[in-house]
Amino acid sequence: MTSAADTSELAAFAPSPEFTATANAGPELQAAADEDRLAFWATQAERLHWHTPFTEVLDFSDAPVAKWFVGGELNVAYNCVDRHVLAGNGDRVAIHFEGEPGDTRDLTYNDLLTEVRKAANTFTDLGLVAGDRVAIYMPMIPEAIVTMLACARLGLTHSVVFAGFSAAALRSRIDDAEAKLVVTVDGQWRRGQAAPLKPAVDEAVDGAASVKHVLVVKRTGIDVAVTDGRDLWWHETVDKASGTHQATPFDSEHPLFILYTSGTTGKPKGIIHTSGGYLTQASYTHHNVFDHKAGQDVYWCTADIGWVTGHSYIVYGPLSNGVTQVVYEGTPNSPDEHRHFQIIEKYGVSIYYTAPTLVRTFMKWGRDIPDAHDLTSIRLLGSVGEPINPEAWKWFREVIGGNQAPIVDTWWQTETGAIMISPLPGITATKPGSAMAPLPGISAKIVDDDANELGAGGSGYLVLDKPWPAMLRGIWGDMDRYRDTYWSRYPEQGWYFAGDGAKYDEDGALWVLGRVDDVMNVSGHRISTSEVESALVGHHGVAEAAVVGAADETTGQGIVAFVILREGVENTGDTLIAELKAEVSREISPIAKPRQITIVPELPKTRSGKIMRRLLKDIAEGRDLGDTSTLVNPTVFDTTVFDTIRRP
Ligand code: ATP
Ligand code: MG
Repeated sequence: MTSAADTSELAAFAPSPEFTATANAGPELQAAADEDRLAFWATQAERLHWHTPFTEVLDFSDAPVAKWFVGGELNVAYNCVDRHVLAGNGDRVAIHFEGEPGDTRDLTYNDLLTEVRKAANTFTDLGLVAGDRVAIYMPMIPEAIVTMLACARLGLTHSVVFAGFSAAALRSRIDDAEAKLVVTVDGQWRRGQAAPLKPAVDEAVDGAASVKHVLVVKRTGIDVAVTDGRDLWWHETVDKASGTHQATPFDSEHPLFILYTSGTTGKPKGIIHTSGGYLTQASYTHHNVFDHKAGQDVYWCTADIGWVTGHSYIVYGPLSNGVTQVVYEGTPNSPDEHRHFQIIEKYGVSIYYTAPTLVRTFMKWGRDIPDAHDLTSIRLLGSVGEPINPEAWKWFREVIGGNQAPIVDTWWQTETGAIMISPLPGITATKPGSAMAPLPGISAKIVDDDANELGAGGSGYLVLDKPWPAMLRGIWGDMDRYRDTYWSRYPEQGWYFAGDGAKYDEDGALWVLGRVDDVMNVSGHRISTSEVESALVGHHGVAEAAVVGAADETTGQGIVAFVILREGVENTGDTLIAELKAEVSREISPIAKPRQITIVPELPKTRSGKIMRRLLKDIAEGRDLGDTSTLVNPTVFDTTVFDTIRRP
């Protein structure tokens, strides 16, 4: 890939001696992993309570399906809840819930345990047994987390479907997993409005043979239809159930959940995760990457449970570590753009984990907003979901992190289950925009088409060459697609192909460049979309940019860019566009200069905040739009500006 923007020159931010002095992670982690990787993971598994100890760390004889911690038995919910109560921390707040309308609720570990037990008793009364699937279609309220944990407690495999998805998207996921129970709400709060959700469930389960019951939490109090014999209210069942329940252990490989990928590159895949290995890596990474200290930190991961970050870094990783965390129901601008900063100030949030798209949104709103708040409690910042451009990284550190909080840019996927590549705070000197290096215990390589391993300065495909504990165990109902999607690119080597491009800079720092599908070929030059986007966002007027390569008769592919302007920036039309083109030429090279730049009010995004470039490509190449079922803003294309780009 062309890499004229010389990233190796970007100054690295060394950890402060004060941070290093108390950091959870130390150099001994890497040393231990280098010495004996499997023994290292066995040690990490000791973070958990095992009802029955495992006898073997890894069995990969049935590759590409791994078994981790073979013979071990544990209960995931017991590890996330009961254990902390038994250790005497039952009075510690687990969840500071902040509802969008301003209602709040604190749940201690004692409270959480009681709630989870009641839900588990209710699910058992409904006839559910270990191995059954449960669909969860809920906003960010404590009952959603309670439901996930109650499933885990009973060995029920949950499938969380983001509550912004349509009835059709919910139905296809219910059918795929043959869910017996759907847990939902009457409605959810969105930008001050109570938006109904139950009607979508009614539509989705109509004629769905597998669904026996729909359990409904009353969140907004709006009127909903109730189907006798099928629908049950949470407050009439769970709230009245017994608060005693004994957790029983399950095999380390018992399926914990199915989660569909965000659909950025195509039809979503139902990724299967199991118990012991998944929880081990979620717990290990949450402890070391976020430097989390139970009883001291207030943690906030702004994700939704509808995507994997919510699973691993709101529910399983943090709760296994006895976290005190904020769970916020609504959007960042409800009632106004101060909301996140007010919450940070109110609870004294010390660890804040979010997505680059939100950082860029904050930049667009302007720094006056965060500057109006006391954010000094923050001591660590995290980023996930897509490459974070250096501009946004620096702004995040300076404005939100008070110029001193380390940033962990965490690369991972639904498929990897937990963080794989990230700086370790207190150890790694970070470069703005780089995920730096694989974590201790994780092995990754950058390779070319012929499986040659690349070194400093090289750019190619990111592969994971050794199995890891939280790795997916397959695609639900489609093991052929599992082999084909991830393991067919390097069959001889047996490497997992992540679908992302990456490079090492001259100092050996690792940069994830985005999906390989997003690498453009312009007159024979390979240019990554994220590099061009970074250059565009480097212009003071641009808040966000999306770049795609569209078929071009003369150059093979032509670069087509869509940009959103920062608040208050005047759209001077052609003058601005010429300036932006010049900026890209200067920053990267004239070859990377976009053929066309369109200023748009909004970009098509998945709920996890990712730009759906494939849809923009459909537009740029004049095709009908592909699968749009996971768009968070389905009306984005209604605006006429997108029509101006459509080619005949
Ligand atoms: P689908 O697989 O259905 O197309 P998706 O890949 O968007 O959807 P996720 O599993 O949510 O679904 O996203 C994982 C992808 O997100 C990674 O493969 C990578 O492209 C991107 N990503 C996540 N974190 C980072 C990061 N820190 N830096 C760069 N890219 C990241
Ligand atoms: Mg993916």
